[in-house]
Amino acid sequence: MTRPKVLIDKEKLKHNVTFLSRKLQAQGISVAAVTKVFSAYPPLVAIYNEVEEVSYLADSRIENIMKYPKDSDKAFMLLRLPMLSEVEDVVRYATISLNSHIETIRALNEEAARQGKRHQIILMLDLGDLREGIYELEELKAVAEELVQCQHIDWLGLGVNLTCYGAVIPTYGILQRLVNDKAYLEETYGVTLYVLSGGNSSSLYLLDEEGGLPEEINNLRIGEAFVLGRETAFGRIIPGMYQDVFTLRAPIIEYRDKASLPVGTLGMNAFGEAPIFIDKGIIKRGIIALGRQDVDVVHLTPKDERLEILGSSSDHIIIDFSACPDDYSLGAGVEFHLSYGGLLAAFTSPHVYKELI
Ligand SMILES: *Cc1c(COP(=O)(O)O)cnc(C)c1O
Repeated sequence: MTRPKVLIDKEKLKHNVTFLSRKLQAQGISVAAVTKVFSAYPPLVAIYNEVEEVSYLADSRIENIMKYPKDSDKAFMLLRLPMLSEVEDVVRYATISLNSHIETIRALNEEAARQGKRHQIILMLDLGDLREGIYELEELKAVAEELVQCQHIDWLGLGVNLTCYGAVIPTYGILQRLVNDKAYLEETYGVTLYVLSGGNSSSLYLLDEEGGLPEEINNLRIGEAFVLGRETAFGRIIPGMYQDVFTLRAPIIEYRDKASLPVGTLGMNAFGEAPIFIDKGIIKRGIIALGRQDVDVVHLTPKDERLEILGSSSDHIIIDFSACPDDYSLGAGVEFHLSYGGLLAAFTSPHVYKELI
């Protein structure tokens, strides 16, 4: 019987990760493979872990990193700035964390001393996207000054995140600032910064541009491009990669002819919205066993282009099957392509099963 599930084509996923990592490595760029969009689902982490060209496994949640295979030869990277309350787990389970506050780095240093370990950090600079990162040169100097004194911390390098929040598109010029800051810090503080982490899937398009990425950029943190086969600055498909690794499928639990307009006086729906209905007469309406608790319909595209999503509530998605009423029936599965947000939600819902094919 069909249950709501994400179907994962493991050969296509492995191809995507291997294909892009190889291309990056050939250009002197190491790869941090980001597992957060599928909540570090262990069978998929295992696929990433097998790809030789991947240097780091990376996630934004320490709980996900704690599930990584213990015998992996990759370094484990925590992407989200550590909470002060989780430094013990960060030092224990992550090799590297991304940081922007000296208070947090100080806490990591003390915890590393306590555990008799070294912890590596990448210092994040905000180059305009306005999510995480140090913003002012004066603060960068102050942080650097104390950071070089931290006995149990290895200052691995600098990083930037772009596009995720402010939608700022990476350019050669923006990333060159990272290169300049590295040169300045190395000279001023007598350190060697080995890693310049130039962003995420939105930096990929620069590889094919004239001038491209500054040569000193030697790491990227890649999530979306591996799973959806596209770069994220412009949403363009990456030739040679698959866009259909994941499919969401859910069964029909009601299938009937009904009106297209609700009957009675209309107020607000369960979410405080006043929905708009179009009168198409009697239509074939189907309900599938998925709802807003699992995924928002804006992230779903029916594979069968004849279907139209009419709306959803917490546990139901309502679809117009009028263009092909005889091709479906009670219990049949309906399949969808997922956007990034849809993948994130479907993998987070405990009601959506996962199946590798
Ligand atoms: C999520 C995340 C990434 C990966 O971004 P994609 O767009 O999925 O490639 C990289 N770096 C940080 C800090 C992140 O939070």
